[in-house]
Amino acid sequence: MSKEAAISLWDASAAEEDYTNETLGDVSVDVAIVGGGFTGLSTALHCAEKGLSAHVLEAKQIGFGGSGRNCGLVNAALWLPPQKVREKLGTTYGPRFIKKFGSGPEYVFSLIEKHQIRCEVTRTGTIHAAHGPSGFKDLKERHEEWMRLGEPVDLMSREEVSEMIGTAHFHGGLLDHRCGTINPMGYCRGLARAAMGAGAKITTGAHAKKLVRDGDLWKVETNRGTVTAKAVVLGTNAYTDTLWPNLSRIFTMIHYFQLATGPLGAEADHILPGKQGLWDTGQIMFNIRRDAFNRLLVGSMGKVVGSKDRGLSHRWAKKQIAGIFPDLGPVEFEEAWHGQIAMTPDHLPRIYELDTNLFTPIGYNGRGITTGTMFGETMAGLLTGMDRADLPLPMTELMTVPSAPIVSRIYQSAFTANQVLKAI
Ligand SMILES: Cc1cc2nc3c(=O)[nH]c(=O)nc-3n(C[C@H](O)[C@H](O)[C@H](O)COP(=O)(O)OP(=O)(O)OC[C@H]3O[C@@H](n4cnc5c(N)ncnc54)[C@H](O)[C@@H]3O)c2cc1C
Repeated sequence: MSKEAAISLWDASAAEEDYTNETLGDVSVDVAIVGGGFTGLSTALHCAEKGLSAHVLEAKQIGFGGSGRNCGLVNAALWLPPQKVREKLGTTYGPRFIKKFGSGPEYVFSLIEKHQIRCEVTRTGTIHAAHGPSGFKDLKERHEEWMRLGEPVDLMSREEVSEMIGTAHFHGGLLDHRCGTINPMGYCRGLARAAMGAGAKITTGAHAKKLVRDGDLWKVETNRGTVTAKAVVLGTNAYTDTLWPNLSRIFTMIHYFQLATGPLGAEADHILPGKQGLWDTGQIMFNIRRDAFNRLLVGSMGKVVGSKDRGLSHRWAKKQIAGIFPDLGPVEFEEAWHGQIAMTPDHLPRIYELDTNLFTPIGYNGRGITTGTMFGETMAGLLTGMDRADLPLPMTELMTVPSAPIVSRIYQSAFTANQVLKAI
C-alpha cells in the first residue's frame, strides 16, 4: 500500500485519484455544501447537472468521514424491515420510501456505470446472516415482506448459507440480489470527479466555522475564505460539529471498526466465493467480506483498541476468523480503522430544513452509500423547485436526543466489553 497515514484500507487502495485543492478565497454560488462524503458530493453532482453553481467545502479530505471508512456494502437503504418502515412512516411516505430506497443500489450502480467510477464493484448481492435461531426468525419475516413487495430477495437455509459463506457458523441468511459491494473511497472520489466534471467546485481543508444569514443569502465562513450562497446543504452527518446549534444532538454517535488482512491465496477461495458482503443479525453487528484483491475484512461496532498488529481488536479479529474459518490458518492484518455512524432513535434518516434555504439530510443508521447518494439527488430536486409533497420522507423539525452523549458512551463501553469477551 502506497499512501502513508491512510484513514482506511480504501483510502490506500482506491484506484480513483485523491483530489485536493485548498484554494478558496471569497466566492458566490447558488449552493454551498458542507461535507465531502456521499451526501455532499452527490448533492454537488446533481445540483451541477441541474445547472446550479455548487461549491463543496470539506474540512479534511474527500471521504474523510464515514464515506471513506465504511464496509462497502451497497445495501437497500433500509435499516429496518419494510413492515416497520411502513408502520413508522404511514401509508403515504412508507411505501414511497421503501420503493425508492429499496432501489437505491440500482441507482448507485447506474452512477458508477455512467461516470465510469473505478471502485471494484460487485453485483452478486449481499447476505444478511442469522447469528442464531432468533436472527433466522427475523430474517424469515423480512423475507415474507420483501416477497409480498415482489423484490428479489431469497431466504437461505443453514446448509445453503454455509455453502455461500464457507462456514457452518451461521443459522441461515437472506440474499438480496439488488445489492453488491464497492471500494467506498473509490466511489466517493469518483463522485467528486463526476461533480467537478459537471461544473461543481470542491475545496478540501476548508473547515466551515460559521454560518450566518446576510439578507436573503447565507455566508459560510471557513479558514480558507467565505462562500456566499442562496442555499446551503450540510452533509456532515455523524461528523457534525458545532456549526449549527444542536445538530450533533439529534443522533447517537457510535463507532464501527474494521480490520483487513493482506491479500490471501487460494486458501481463502472457499470464503464467500461469490464475493457477497455479509453482516449478521446480532445486536452488536458483525461483518465479513473479501475485497477485489482477496483481502478478508472483518468488523463490528466499536473502536479499534490497539492497532493492526497488536492489542484487543487485533486479538478479537484473529479469534473471529479462526472460529468462523478454521481451515484458513493464521492471518496478519494490513489495516485497522474505525469511523463514526449517526443512529437515530427510530432508525430512520431525516431531512431537516434548519432555516430558510438551509437543509441537511442526516442520520443514516449505517446505510449511507445508497441513502447519501439518493438524498443528494433529492436535495438537488428540492433546490430546483421539487414539490415538497413529493419528498421521499417528510421534512421534520429538529428534535434533539438529550441523552445522546450518555448513550454514546454506554454503547462504547458495551462494544469494548464485547471485544474483550470475544477475544478470549
Ligand atoms: C466503519 C463503518 C462501516 C459502515 N458500513 C457501511 C456499509 O457497508 N454500507 C453503507 O451503506 N453504509 C455504511 N456505513 C455508513 C456510511 O459510511 C455513512 O452513512 C456515510 O458515509 C455518510 O455519508 P455522508 O456523506 O452523509 O457523511 P460523511 O461521509 O461522514 O461525511 C461528512 C463529512 O463532513 C465533514 N465535515 C464535518 N463538519 C464539517 C465542517 N464544519 N466543515 C467542513 N467539513 C465538515 C467531515 O470531515 C466529513 O468528511 C458505515 C460507516 C462506518 C463508519
